[in-house]
Amino acid sequence: MRDRVEDRFPCKLHEIYQATEGYIASSCSHGNLHINEDILIVEKEWIDKESGRFAPIITDLNRRTLPIIRYRLNDILIEEKASCPCGSHFTRLQKIEGREDDMLWLPHSTNGSLVAIFPDLIRRAMYICQTQVSDYRIAQHGGVISFTYKSDDAAKAEQDITATLTELFTGLNVDKPEINFNVGIKQDLMKKQRRIACYQKPSFVD
Ligand SMILES: [Zn+2]
Repeated sequence: MRDRVEDRFPCKLHEIYQATEGYIASSCSHGNLHINEDILIVEKEWIDKESGRFAPIITDLNRRTLPIIRYRLNDILIEEKASCPCGSHFTRLQKIEGREDDMLWLPHSTNGSLVAIFPDLIRRAMYICQTQVSDYRIAQHGGVISFTYKSDDAAKAEQDITATLTELFTGLNVDKPEINFNVGIKQDLMKKQRRIACYQKPSFVD
């Protein structure tokens, strides 16, 4: 979407990351996202410190009504450790990955403990299938994943998706779930579009 907008209008697309809970981050002159640490305190609850993934706990310093004090959002943000050429020391974000309930969970192949599969990994894997799959939705209900998609060649698409996901899950050392395929996406315009969603985690197998 960014490429399309920047292509159509000769300008750089900047981002604002804002929620009911506050105005959290915005792009600087170099197009990098920084947390608005002049108006917020953002504490990091690490989800995966190595990759820089955390859930923000925000305290708004400006509000006089509806106080937001150490309020945890269920978003997944990725910290960018490199400093920004703009000179700002406000925490830089590599990206806003999504929400925690966009993560899929699958049991580890050897010990059965649940492993989080970040939405970005799935999006990147699915990028490979884009010649066959023009759009998709993934919904997890326990050990079953419903895969709804748009394609002109369903048989080839399912073959590609199965191969791609099998490779991803094998690489992550998790059990391959049962995948149900459905062609055709019906988007309820009154509902927020969620491409990847976990509605129910599989049960932990010890
Ligand atoms: Zn910057």
